[in-house]
Amino acid sequence: MKRKTIRIAGSDSVAMEMNDPVGLTCGVAGCDANCCKNGPHIILNPYEIALICSASGLSYEDLLDVVETDRVNGFPLVMLPRDPACHFWTEQGCSIYAARPLACRLFPLGRVFDHGRSFFVTPDRNLCKGLAQAPSRTLAQYLDEQDTKTQITMADRWIEFVTEMEQQSFPDKPVTSVAFHMLVYSPDTPPSSDSAQSPESPEDRFLLRMDTARRKLPQFLRSS
Ligand code: SF4
Ligand code: SF4
Repeated sequence: MKRKTIRIAGSDSVAMEMNDPVGLTCGVAGCDANCCKNGPHIILNPYEIALICSASGLSYEDLLDVVETDRVNGFPLVMLPRDPACHFWTEQGCSIYAARPLACRLFPLGRVFDHGRSFFVTPDRNLCKGLAQAPSRTLAQYLDEQDTKTQITMADRWIEFVTEMEQQSFPDKPVTSVAFHMLVYSPDTPPSSDSAQSPESPEDRFLLRMDTARRKLPQFLRSS
């Protein structure tokens, strides 16, 4: 049966199946961890930002000194640069390994959405010097090994939130960025104005923060 292909950055990537082989030799000869020292910026969601701030001890304000921000069609983005090297890379490896974003867990694979469905792919632009010829594990095993389940669930909740916010057509102005950094991205803002609601787990805090932002963002932007 012909495999589905998805167009990414000008070239076609084949959608992977769960039993497809993933051959990687992370950390051994031939691999120079170029995934942390090369490639496009990693777009971060607020769940990943909260994990990174917690693991690194950085406040959100300090994190803004090491990431880049942009606004695309009115939607603010927070991105982690990897060129010439990710801020969290050390000679001993990733200094926030347990809190690394989903893109790092998947690399050199990627996850893309096409017609409302998600697919795993190996985009050409993800340069990995440690790809091995011999299949060593399946995609399903690789996702499990990289502990991606919670990150994927939270990434899906984030996509739902982004889709809802895009339908609101917020103004493409600096005030929109200010509102998003304050209410959506910053883990230093309480997840709810009701201090009795302060969940312990990062997942519950993220979900509560999104619920609060759904109500507060339109109010904030209408009144500004
Ligand atoms: S967060 Fe860690 S794994 Fe991801 S690019 Fe940076 S150093 Fe590499
Ligand atoms: S993903 Fe590729 S470049 Fe990155 S550590 Fe693994 S083998 Fe090396």
